[in-house]
Amino acid sequence: MSKESYIPNKPNPLAQRKVLTLQERVRLLQQGQRSNQPILYWMFRDQRPDDNWALLFAQKMALDNKESIHVLICFESPCPLSRRQYEFMAAGLKETELALRAKNISFTCVIGDPATVIPKLIIKRNFGCLVTDFSPLRQKKQWNKRIADTISIPFYEVDAHNIVPCWLASPKQEYAAYTLRPKLHRVLKQYLIDFPQLLRHPYVDGLESPLTSWERIQDQLSLNEAAQPVHWLAPGSREAYKTLLSFLETRLSDYHKNVNNPAVEGQSQLSPYLHFGQLAPQRVVLELLRHNPMDSSTEKFLEQIVIRRELADNYCLYNQSYDHFSGFPSWGQETLRQHAGDNRPYLYSQQELENHLTHDPLWNAAQLEMVENGKMNGYVRMYWAKKILEWTANPEEALAIAIYLNNLYELDGNDPIGYANMAWCIGGVHDRPWPQRPIFGKIRYMNYAGMRRKFNINEYINRVLARKNT
Ligand SMILES: Cc1cc2nc3c(=O)[nH]c(=O)nc-3n(C[C@H](O)[C@H](O)[C@H](O)COP(=O)(O)OP(=O)(O)OC[C@H]3O[C@@H](n4cnc5c(N)ncnc54)[C@H](O)[C@@H]3O)c2cc1C
Repeated sequence: MSKESYIPNKPNPLAQRKVLTLQERVRLLQQGQRSNQPILYWMFRDQRPDDNWALLFAQKMALDNKESIHVLICFESPCPLSRRQYEFMAAGLKETELALRAKNISFTCVIGDPATVIPKLIIKRNFGCLVTDFSPLRQKKQWNKRIADTISIPFYEVDAHNIVPCWLASPKQEYAAYTLRPKLHRVLKQYLIDFPQLLRHPYVDGLESPLTSWERIQDQLSLNEAAQPVHWLAPGSREAYKTLLSFLETRLSDYHKNVNNPAVEGQSQLSPYLHFGQLAPQRVVLELLRHNPMDSSTEKFLEQIVIRRELADNYCLYNQSYDHFSGFPSWGQETLRQHAGDNRPYLYSQQELENHLTHDPLWNAAQLEMVENGKMNGYVRMYWAKKILEWTANPEEALAIAIYLNNLYELDGNDPIGYANMAWCIGGVHDRPWPQRPIFGKIRYMNYAGMRRKFNINEYINRVLARKNT
């Protein structure tokens, strides 16, 4: 694939395209009576002020109608986040709140069931239109539906996360990366344009609320304390951008060599920022194309950040069972059922796995890396999940344990990418049948000897232990 696949056609009537792609990224969830009242943007997944198509759409409507914009964050209670994840997210939101206020856009954070809180707020504050960003995950889709059924103003959803809007990239669940790749490449150039700037908003309505107390919110959320905050990665959009530039300048050129070597820092470390929407994937790709040549490292990285990432959203949008055994392809379900009665030489409980108490030092180090640092190396994550399949009673239990651990400890947990990858490892999603083996059946197998051939396991273990002690 050439760099040209990613560069818009020339001449590029940029201003015109910006408006066009903005509209294409939007879908109407609920029609309603549009009134000349302020716009409410329910910020959910894309928690940044800049490079945010949902906020840009809200601003465009507000400017057209000479109205103000309000941004709302709503936390459900009890909150599914760990303290580690909350603190990373809250620090990013704090920065976002200040940046929005500096642009005359008010910001509030509330606690409660969004499907109850948001309709009430719409009536109380007399909002004229509701905008939200897109997530393919079940909970957000259910909230959207309940809100749409309750309110009588227009309700728009904007895909501010994917480069190609998820529902336009494909109308169905894709079989694998090779089926989505050509569809994305056909339209990528049209969508991979620079973002317009968020303007200082000229209309305010004087309903300014005090700055959010993130500590007070935290006290009310009953966060899971098992995963404590980590400090090796500074949160927020500014830090995200610095991390991106440092990766492009110093590590991208060796990405193809180092990405699967957990003994060195070969990855970008961008996933926590991308997960909390502190950085737009589209910004990552734009900066990369601006600064870096198209070589095998760049190609490999683009495959991950564009194709594999957008494939995960496709999987979760169209597969209602993305986090269950029943979401696996039929060949995966069948082969795992056929091997359900196979002898399992090692069986571990969730607690033993959580406390890294297996016979395998590599697996234990990987688990420790996740528990202590909140981010396990990507290549090791595959081995980690496949061993959970091998060492638990059945694939249903394996998937449930993998999801539990991943979503509690990883800074980037509870993301479509995690669901798609765990289903890849355990159920063959986006993969193909492989030669039969005990327990795995035709699901792709990974073993310790294979890992030893790829990298120096002791170096990795020492690295994890050294980081734990700092
Ligand atoms: C069992 C398992 C669980 C995982 N759970 C998560 C999760 O909860 N959240 C999460 O973001 N990623 C998850 N991944 C995917 C991948 O491991 C991480 O995205 C990656 O390690 C994040 O680090 P990075 O940003 O430094 O990655 P880099 O290698 O620098 O990649 C850059 C970006 O490309 C995308 N990407 C990379 N690998 C993949 C992949 N395999 N599939 C889709 N997109 C990819 C991500 O957006 C990533 O941030 C999981 C993978 C496995 C095998």
